[in-house]
Amino acid sequence: MADMKLVVVGAGGRMGRTLVRIVSETAGMTVHAAVDRPDSSLIGQDAGLLAGIGEIGVPLTADPLAAVVGADGILDFTVPAATVGFAELAAQARIIHVIGTTGCSAEDEAAIDAAARHAVVVKSGNMSVCVNLLAVLVERAARTLGPDFDIEILEMHHRHKVDAPSGTALLLGEAAARGRDIKLDDYAVRSRDGYTGPRPQGAIGFATLRGGSVVGDHTVYLAGAGERLELRHVAEDRAQFAKGAVRAALWAWGRKPGRYDMADVLGLKD
Ligand code: NAD
Repeated sequence: MADMKLVVVGAGGRMGRTLVRIVSETAGMTVHAAVDRPDSSLIGQDAGLLAGIGEIGVPLTADPLAAVVGADGILDFTVPAATVGFAELAAQARIIHVIGTTGCSAEDEAAIDAAARHAVVVKSGNMSVCVNLLAVLVERAARTLGPDFDIEILEMHHRHKVDAPSGTALLLGEAAARGRDIKLDDYAVRSRDGYTGPRPQGAIGFATLRGGSVVGDHTVYLAGAGERLELRHVAEDRAQFAKGAVRAALWAWGRKPGRYDMADVLGLKD
């Protein structure tokens, strides 16, 4: 069988470089093209050299339209505005779009849903196997412990991260809400400042730390009267996210158009 041909968009970024490395190291797939912003100073540079694996003969291009010709899928860890454009491109080309980008608005999500009528979209706020397993544990814990246990989600990321709470924190919040049969939007408390009054019963709280080079730490607290459960994940290396994205692309290959997430890929919905 021919190699799966993948376009890495945002290939000059932290995740993009990691994806170029992991795709190049994975048997049965190749980096078909590497795309970044037209105003990036990295355009024209070899994607492999940027990824620290030596030249692979794929220069960074600012032309996504040409890049997807002949490709099987797009791996996308960029910014929401770019991701919406790539989703439309994936729909036109009827190919796979694996989306790791976080911070998408409801409008962005609607545009991605529309694209998923023609593209095979796998989108997740966190592509790591452990985090998706953690989400299952959080859902289970929230269901068992009920609203008498206060749920708080604490996350820390590196100083360059631009959105908050993290996509992973929101993914874990969604899992907790599912466990309680409520809608996260109705119960989320995303920040606190000043005279806030007591904690509303049933709230799912978020707290954000930013600093240094932290890849991603998440702790879900289920705090009751007299005891507390803490479920924690620590990401030490971006490669886990890239490996998850590659696994998602392989899973999506040959599947019918639609919108999927990592729980589908990992078979965690049974
Ligand atoms: P980064 O800033 O290092 O990289 C983003 C790249 O996208 C940059 O190279 C930028 O130039 C490029 N880009 C922006 N607009 C573009 C456009 N129009 N066309 C092509 N390229 C464009 O950021 P990062 O740390 O690599 O993170 C990227 C995204 O991935 C963030 O939203 C982050 O939260 C998310 N992320 C998700 C996971 C996950 O598992 N889902 C894990 C880590 C990071």
